[in-house]
Amino acid sequence: MTPRPAVFLDRDGVLTESVVVDGVPRPAHSDGTLLPLRPGVEEACARLRRAGLLLICVSNQPDVARGTADIESVNATNRELRAALNLDAVLVCPHDDRDGCECRKPLPGMLLAAADSLDVDLARSVMVGDRWRDIEAGRRAGVTTIFIDNRYDERQPNRPDITGPGLLDVVPQILQVALRITMRDATLDRPAAETLSPSDLAVEIFADGADRASILQLAANPLIKGFTTNPTLMRAVGVTDYEGFAHEVLTAVPGMPVSFEVFADDFDEMERQARRIAEWGDNVYVKIPVTDTKGRPTDRVVSTLSEEGVQLNVTALFTVEQVRWVVDALAGGPRAFISVFAGRIADSGRDPIPIMVDSLEVMAAHPNLKLIWASPREILNIVQADQIGCHVITVTHDLLKKLSSIGKDLDEFSLDTVRMFHRDAASAGFTL
Ligand SMILES: [Mg+2]
Repeated sequence: MTPRPAVFLDRDGVLTESVVVDGVPRPAHSDGTLLPLRPGVEEACARLRRAGLLLICVSNQPDVARGTADIESVNATNRELRAALNLDAVLVCPHDDRDGCECRKPLPGMLLAAADSLDVDLARSVMVGDRWRDIEAGRRAGVTTIFIDNRYDERQPNRPDITGPGLLDVVPQILQVALRITMRDATLDRPAAETLSPSDLAVEIFADGADRASILQLAANPLIKGFTTNPTLMRAVGVTDYEGFAHEVLTAVPGMPVSFEVFADDFDEMERQARRIAEWGDNVYVKIPVTDTKGRPTDRVVSTLSEEGVQLNVTALFTVEQVRWVVDALAGGPRAFISVFAGRIADSGRDPIPIMVDSLEVMAAHPNLKLIWASPREILNIVQADQIGCHVITVTHDLLKKLSSIGKDLDEFSLDTVRMFHRDAASAGFTL
């Protein structure tokens, strides 16, 4: 079994309401019944579970050692909590500081024991807590630490990795950590930025363009795993015979996935064009825009074609809401791509990463579907797509020319730049 990422969750103040006296949280009284849940916790846990994460509650209950709570009631309350939130495990430390145990947070004992018995991938796991002991325990266990700031008047945690007001608010960040593709074992002990080379990437690079000579050249590049094109790119290079061009491309790149787009705006005509394009080859994916030009969703077209076995690439998505209905329309069908235009989202001044991470989460239960990071603007986007576990990134031929810069030594890069200025000034024959 492959180790899975886990979310270690403190109980009081994260999952359930904390009891605060004079600004300081006090242990909640466990009377065997379910304690009141904090807002958004059920939704947060459901989303994290759907993405395949283990949910493990780790709770200090020193009132047991202090004689003000009995362990049976604590356990009964925790059983209710486990059932209500569908948790994988609830671990309790019943000790106080003087007991010298290894489980009381800030010691990492509970996290490490659960990691061992449930086969947890700690490098992709997080600890969510509302007190300094939680954050310290997480740090010692080697997981990403997330502080839920309940504004207590007490010792503050030492530099948590992430801070947020509630569990639901930090779900995107948790998923970003958990879905991150870990670098190969060989590079784990070295700084990733200095060792990353294009061949380390888990994200598949598809070349996006319509220039025949470039396509031929890129087909021989082992880093390129597929091709996409679109009517705008084809027009830019003067293609007039769509089908003739498509056959030329398919001859040049046998076996690799290639996407061609329908250009009709009428739903019936889109279906007709899609069926015809699909006949061009087993490696052909038909691009269907997410709406027509009036903004009407193409869900009927997508589900009809998918049910017929046509391999699709649904394109021009910008929102998670669109991803949701496209996933519904493609679920249970053949392999398909979903193209979210991360670069254009960035053009609007928004960070595309949370949208891409949420999209991966929505798709997680459907192994036939792959997410495409479309319209990247810079090489950094390839590394970002790789880190969040995005399946594919489509990269224009121009941007691909910079691919070899990945992981380049910055001193060397600086020197290259200085030499370029010098060379160009000399070539221009400037004098002063
Ligand atoms: Mg707490």
